[in-house]
Amino acid sequence: MRYMSKMPVLFVGHGSPMNAIEDNQFSRSWKEIARKIPKPEAILSVSAHWYTRGTKINNEENPKTIYDMDGFPRPLYEIVYDCPGSPTVAKVVKALVTKDSEYDNTWGIDHGTWSVLVHMYPDRDIPVLQLSVDRNAPPEVHYMIGKELGALRNHNVLIFCSGNIVHNLRMVDWNMENKGYDWAYEFDDYIHDNIMDANHGRIMLYHQAGECAKYSVPIPDHYYPLLYALGASSRNDEVSVYNKACVLGSVTMTSYLWE
Ligand code: ZN
Repeated sequence: MRYMSKMPVLFVGHGSPMNAIEDNQFSRSWKEIARKIPKPEAILSVSAHWYTRGTKINNEENPKTIYDMDGFPRPLYEIVYDCPGSPTVAKVVKALVTKDSEYDNTWGIDHGTWSVLVHMYPDRDIPVLQLSVDRNAPPEVHYMIGKELGALRNHNVLIFCSGNIVHNLRMVDWNMENKGYDWAYEFDDYIHDNIMDANHGRIMLYHQAGECAKYSVPIPDHYYPLLYALGASSRNDEVSVYNKACVLGSVTMTSYLWE
């Protein structure tokens, strides 16, 4: 039997949609990650921006590009990430996830996904499908879905989770371009240390971090994608950290690769 190595699992802090058209430290890291890991046969994206009631799976042949952001410069709305979809992987995802789920093609590839993939895979030749984040599910359910999806790693599917560990848009301070509030660093470090120690229970019970958690995760839409990545990771994986930085005071870009 030929030895097939497992695909890595990625959690990306995507930050501002502007990263899609900027050449900066973040977008350069995303390119570096794509160069470093094996080329996947398909990408399953769990994006913070598909935050739904219930768990949905996109199974279109040709998913549309979704522009789920307002007030950005025109070039952002001209980006078309016209990759193929993957009804085949969608079927596998549906079978692996024991929680109720349904196919839903009202959405497509949103900016949580394309703002990063335009840098990682600009050729748009790898099929991409999205799985939604159920806003009513508690942390342990997101983690469990991630665990079930871990099997995809043996089939050359990249589990790509896109959010931000610290994400508080109300507290954004445009004068803090590359800086963060103390509570943002505190929470980001807390999660970092628990990821490094594979202390996943603490990451699910993130409220226990106290005051810093309240400010960092006012709504868990951008936090929950991390739980899918953790669930899909395994104890034998090595973890690499990218983009450990805070921008605009209240958004951290910290990204993790398990391989
Ligand atoms: Zn976002």
